[in-house]
Amino acid sequence: MNRRGRPVNLVVVSNRVARGKPNEPMTGGLAAALLPVVEHSGAIWVGSSGRVRDGHQKEPFAEIEALGSGAIATLDLPAAHYGGYYEGFANSALWPALHSRSDLIRVSREDYVSYREVNAFMARALMRFRKPRTAFWVQDYHFLALGAELRDLGVDDPIGFFLHTPWPVAAVTQGVPNHRELITAMLAYDLIGFQTEEDRQNFLGYVAGELGLVIDDGVVLSQHGRTRCEVFPIGIDAEKFAQYAAKSASHPDVSRLRRSLNGERLAIGVDRLDYSKGLVNRISAFDRLWTEQPQFLRSISLLQIANPSRGAIEAYGNLQNEVARLVTDVNGRHGEVDWTPIRYLNKGFSQAVLAGLYRTAQIGVVTPLHDGMNLVAKEYVAAQNPADPGVLVLSKFAGAANELDTALLVNPHDIDAMARAIAIAAAMPLTERKMRWDAMMKKLRGHTIQQWSADFVAELEKCRIEKAAVAPLAAQPPQALRWLKSAISGVRLI
Ligand code: UDP
Repeated sequence: MNRRGRPVNLVVVSNRVARGKPNEPMTGGLAAALLPVVEHSGAIWVGSSGRVRDGHQKEPFAEIEALGSGAIATLDLPAAHYGGYYEGFANSALWPALHSRSDLIRVSREDYVSYREVNAFMARALMRFRKPRTAFWVQDYHFLALGAELRDLGVDDPIGFFLHTPWPVAAVTQGVPNHRELITAMLAYDLIGFQTEEDRQNFLGYVAGELGLVIDDGVVLSQHGRTRCEVFPIGIDAEKFAQYAAKSASHPDVSRLRRSLNGERLAIGVDRLDYSKGLVNRISAFDRLWTEQPQFLRSISLLQIANPSRGAIEAYGNLQNEVARLVTDVNGRHGEVDWTPIRYLNKGFSQAVLAGLYRTAQIGVVTPLHDGMNLVAKEYVAAQNPADPGVLVLSKFAGAANELDTALLVNPHDIDAMARAIAIAAAMPLTERKMRWDAMMKKLRGHTIQQWSADFVAELEKCRIEKAAVAPLAAQPPQALRWLKSAISGVRLI
């Protein structure tokens, strides 16, 4: 897994874990991405069981099961704090802020307390999996403070953190309650990984401007020591998707869809039902297309899979109602007795079936208003038939746009431009489709999910070596230590 020698004991932590059942949908990009990493690396993956428990648990309950050469351990989180942690601070303060939607932040002081309590709880639980030569790899915004909690318990192993979402500009970060305390806690990580250079720059901009810390070549120097900030764009297992897609034609959902099309072109959207995904704008763009270019009526339809998530949060309930109303309105105006413009499905599909649905569609529409990476964009490309590939219409505000730059890139706020891009995609000649697809596929094959994790873990191991080099200095008197550290890093210490 790691070119420079894998850590003996890699502990991966995320809020939810995936079970690795091929027939079940993934709960999101993070679970989808980590599954093959854990299956092949021998890591232990720790996360929530999705259940809660009352009372104070001295020894957090963990169920452990094998997953390939690795294992999954799940914990019941504390009932008293789960709501404040998950629906509260994580998904009603951090998620909206990280997607630059400060207007949707709704939290109380108690939510922050619960968030910190659950981070502390997880840190205590992780001690059970600590052995000599352990490295911890924490995933995503649910556990920004987990590194600091582990340090408080005396952990000096390398601890890395990867953010799957975007990181916003400083003015938006400042809208998060307790932002100074929280981001100072994040600096207990040795390594912080971002999806894009823009995210990394936004984070460093906040750290320098708001916290007044010194940054030396991407390394933040703080009371916790050194935190290296780097970009690791997440990849997918492109070959797996290509194989799934090639085999999928016999699956009943895929064959029924194909039979129902009668030569009509299909566009596909696959998203969690989330306001960051731009569903209202996307459906409005199809409405615009059918209204202004009626030749596309009956000749192109949209299959929109919108898997519900976080239903207990008001913003998600409102979105679900808004999208359902819009779909009904558009279908009501443009539909015919024998033609439905938008097939709208509020359920999830396994990745094996998704691959077949992606391949059936001549156009993939991935138009989030803001997205860390967006794995669906990459999966759509990987699932195409090389002899007759479809066209990806991709938001320039998805992290994937950095790599998939031969997609038709669109501004998801510009409804007219999106409608035009869909029309262009529908008419694109085979030679151009192949040229664009080849370029994207080359990038996907050149940077897989396995390489992504190997790169991160290799960088985390470097932190162990750096720490070991600096450790003897800790025995020096404070004056000498300050002088030595500044001599090593070549920068002023604060
Ligand atoms: N997914 C799935 N079944 C579905 C819809 C989505 O397994 O019905 C998977 C999809 O294959 C992808 C992930 O969920 O790997 C979604 O990741 P993405 O980065 O696009 O968005 P996120 O949900 O993480 O915001």
